[in-house]
Amino acid sequence: MSVIEPEEHKALREAVASFARNHPRAPGTDNRQFWQDAAKLGYIGVNLPEAYGGGGGGIAELSLVLEEMGAAGNPLLMMIVSPAICGTVISRFGTEAQKRQWLPALADGSRLMAFGITEPDAGSNSHRITTTARRDGAGWLLTGRKVFVSGVDIADATLVVGRTADARTGRLKPCLFIVPRDAEGFRRRPIDMELNSVEKQFELSFDDVRLPADALVGDEDAGLLQLFAGLNPERVMTAAFAIGMGRYALARAVEYARERTVWSAPIGSHQAIAHPLARAHIDLELARLMTQKAAHLYDTGDDTGAGEAANMAKYAAAEACAKTVDQAVHTLGGNGLTREFGLAPLITAARVSRIAPVSREMILNYVSHQTLGLPKSY
Ligand SMILES: Cc1cc2nc3c(=O)[nH]c(=O)nc-3n(C[C@H](O)[C@H](O)[C@H](O)COP(=O)(O)OP(=O)(O)OC[C@H]3O[C@@H](n4cnc5c(N)ncnc54)[C@H](O)[C@@H]3O)c2cc1C
Repeated sequence: MSVIEPEEHKALREAVASFARNHPRAPGTDNRQFWQDAAKLGYIGVNLPEAYGGGGGGIAELSLVLEEMGAAGNPLLMMIVSPAICGTVISRFGTEAQKRQWLPALADGSRLMAFGITEPDAGSNSHRITTTARRDGAGWLLTGRKVFVSGVDIADATLVVGRTADARTGRLKPCLFIVPRDAEGFRRRPIDMELNSVEKQFELSFDDVRLPADALVGDEDAGLLQLFAGLNPERVMTAAFAIGMGRYALARAVEYARERTVWSAPIGSHQAIAHPLARAHIDLELARLMTQKAAHLYDTGDDTGAGEAANMAKYAAAEACAKTVDQAVHTLGGNGLTREFGLAPLITAARVSRIAPVSREMILNYVSHQTLGLPKSY
């Protein structure tokens, strides 16, 4: 891997940036047409295999698409889920029939898949999830609850992380199930979030949801490995989402600081304004470098190396994004909080990447234990 971005990635960035700028959209408004148009141009399925209608690229390409959309102020949150987690897991571990059923449709934008792992009583400790699938003839019965799952209303199905009981030991093993939106016993309740986003979060309940045998994705005995195959792309994509948002906020602040004059010179000439913006730019660039490394490791098949790098990239990008948005809002003075300038909703939105899909503290725990070999406190 070169630390200098290849020409084809630069060209893809420019094409996506120009496409996203030409599709301006007020935050919180419907983005289905934008999703469809992006899919037609091959952006949504750029990471999916060519044999199933995708672009044959990897998470490197998919993450730069999302970053550029975000930098243009027009990110598609469900890209983190539908092509990155669900598309990856199905292309790596799905049956031929599952691949044919889902991948072309995820790539061309005609179908969307959500992803549910978080549970109210397990939270960050996903080893404690209790959503359970029991054998029912040839199929399954799924029971449990999830919380904060994004986009379930607009998704045709949700890829749900459940558990099955090991017949020999009785221990529960993580497994992935495709649950159609209208399956009987599958209910959703929107959560009233303080986020100006069109993608809503839902609390889900599964009350003996009857699923066919082929709802299970991958091998019942290799669930954890398959799960991580989807979680690493999710972290890389969340990093790209955060970097895009940070770049967008920084650009607005820089434009403003160049023009706004309250004494004899533009406010951007004061180092108290300029230096924090310069630092924000450096932090975003560094986070992007780590994100590119994580994507490269993942795309070249190093799942273990990608795990550490994706965690670090997500951490660095979330911190850079939250600090950049804070500084951008401050740079605009009172205008930072007006609806007209539109930066204030980013104060809340920027926090999301600190919490999801894995919190800042859990990444610091991971690096303390796995990378540095420090003892565990829990
Ligand atoms: C906008 C949004 C979208 C989301 N979309 C999805 C989705 O599509 N699908 C999905 O499955 N989930 C989704 N989530 C859920 C998200 O992944 C969780 O919120 C996240 O994993 C944290 O879990 P929790 O909220 O239960 O927090 P908790 O686990 O209760 O943690 C609360 C706080 O305690 C800290 N903490 C916990 N344990 C430790 C420890 N051992 N050491 C130090 N600190 C600790 C955490 O860092 C955090 O600050 C979404 C969340 C948000 C906000």
